[in-house]
Amino acid sequence: MTNVKEEKKKPYRSAGSNALWSFRGMLRDAPLAFWLSALGVPIGVFLAWAEIRLPALVVAQVVNGRTFVQAAWAVGVLLGLTGLAAASQRALEGVSQTYLRRYCYQKCVELNRKSMSCFYQVYEKKPVRDLHSRAEKAAQMWNGKQPLSDMPKETFGLVKNLLCYALFGGMVSFVSPWLVVLLTAAPAVNWLCARAYQRYEYATREARTDVERRLEYVTGRGADFAAAKDIRIYGMAGWLKEAYQDLFGQSAAWSRRLNLRQFLSRLADLGIILLRDGGAYALLTAMFLRGQLTVDQFVLYFGAISGFAAYVGNIMNAWNEMRAASLRVCDFREYMDLPEQMGPAQGAKAPQSAPEITFDRVSFRYENGGADVLRELSFTMRPGERVALVGMNGAGKTTLVKLLCGLYKPTSGEIRVNGVPVEEFHKKDYYRLFSPVFQDVKTAFFSLAETVAGRLGEEADAARAEACMRRAGLGDKLDALPHGIHTKLDKQVNQDGTELSGGEAQKLMMARALYKDAPVLVLDEPTAALDPIAENEIYLQYRDMTEGKTSLFISHRLASTQFCDRILFLQDGRIAGEGAHAQLIAQGGEYARLYEMQSCWYRDDYQGGEEL
Ligand code: ADP
Repeated sequence: MTNVKEEKKKPYRSAGSNALWSFRGMLRDAPLAFWLSALGVPIGVFLAWAEIRLPALVVAQVVNGRTFVQAAWAVGVLLGLTGLAAASQRALEGVSQTYLRRYCYQKCVELNRKSMSCFYQVYEKKPVRDLHSRAEKAAQMWNGKQPLSDMPKETFGLVKNLLCYALFGGMVSFVSPWLVVLLTAAPAVNWLCARAYQRYEYATREARTDVERRLEYVTGRGADFAAAKDIRIYGMAGWLKEAYQDLFGQSAAWSRRLNLRQFLSRLADLGIILLRDGGAYALLTAMFLRGQLTVDQFVLYFGAISGFAAYVGNIMNAWNEMRAASLRVCDFREYMDLPEQMGPAQGAKAPQSAPEITFDRVSFRYENGGADVLRELSFTMRPGERVALVGMNGAGKTTLVKLLCGLYKPTSGEIRVNGVPVEEFHKKDYYRLFSPVFQDVKTAFFSLAETVAGRLGEEADAARAEACMRRAGLGDKLDALPHGIHTKLDKQVNQDGTELSGGEAQKLMMARALYKDAPVLVLDEPTAALDPIAENEIYLQYRDMTEGKTSLFISHRLASTQFCDRILFLQDGRIAGEGAHAQLIAQGGEYARLYEMQSCWYRDDYQGGEEL
């Protein structure tokens, strides 16, 4: 088990700081939510006072021999005001809830915007993914709680309870100032217990999030329809079940530990309430019996004592609720405070036409990844040049693409575009330079036009998207679809939607790259999922697609790169050969040996190749 003691650390921000942060955010994004919630405070205090004043008033009317009309007027006015206050409180709660929801929605938008501006290399790290997961929970409704909106709500609740405490405390002090001390001190035990529980919950949250994320991952993978075939045929159900049971067991063990601690803290709370209230009522009864209080005073103070005791408890509860919400808000703020790393706001202007790209002694190492994946790599892609990057699996090709596209930062060395270091561009501007087609294809339930354009509805130029799809070799597919370019993807969500094969999806990504029409085209193993005819089509179209662009074509299939101007042969993170295909073959090095090995599978005279 994780050593909780060692993990204890101070919350990212104090509850007070988080309350002010919430108020500032509300005043900026949803001022009505702030003012309506604030108005609830004086109304709440009035209602609390009226609740104990009313019975005492009735008793006073009877004891002092008032006429029925006089009593009805006095009581009626107070009753009317109470009714009015209660109705306004209800209405305020309902309306401010709606505005609070708007405030939370705004925060969700900010969270997603933050994720987009978080540097990819940082965003992909596990602690950041975990923090993101916790920050999301702060904005979500879970178990009837939504920390981001609970934070201001509980703070207003605390203020209301503090005002009630002062009001009722003033009344109780007429009976005995010591009673104020007793009624205030007793719940401190409860407060300490609840605080100990919350500290434990906060200190263990990282270990719990880790288990929850793993559980989510296994559940997601197990329920992923795309994996249904593999799970059946490879008998992976048992393995998934085992992993699920193990993680579920860990998750349940955490819940048990948390529940037990919460139960013990509540038990202490009940014991203290019993002692506290018993003592106070005994004192009041003794004073009444000794004739130190009149009947209506007895009724008033009786109400004040029970109210006062309740408000002391309410202050503790509101404070605990506020702290619980505050700890979640800490996660949200910590995530939002991550450095943006989007580059200088007024960065260098990204070129509009095919640029020159230089890798100058670039090395890259994954965190905890051991050795350098790329080592002192130097090469230049001239404007409009078609460069092929070849190498076996694990040579570092995809890593190089991520560096080129600005998703990673070199561990050492520099990448320059038209002589300008990459760090001098604003990331958003830099991303405009590239039309990449990555190996892993992800499509969602949008229409084909929207997917290709990366825009929704009218903003997607359907005619242009269709032309790009035809250029990418999806003309026949389009003609066969009843809704053509407006057909939606994903049959599971859209009844008359379509499903694409792996090769078709890859071509669709190619169409998306064509639609973007950026000055640099990057194709990372674009033919991996294509049949030989489609593959051939891509090679034929490659010249046309790369016209006027600097392009990088990545493949582990050495024969597929002959139509490029130059080939870079990557091996163990270094460039082990460079030149045209014929040149590299003539050099007779590692490239020639691997080419011979790969091509022998396609020859009629194949007698059995060298072992790969
Ligand atoms: P290629 O695209 O040539 O097959 P990659 O660039 O994907 O090669 O990977 C190069 C090396 O870096 C491999 O040894 C791989 O295991 C390692 N690697 C890739 N991604 C990561 C990562 N996120 N963390 C740690 N190591 C990684």
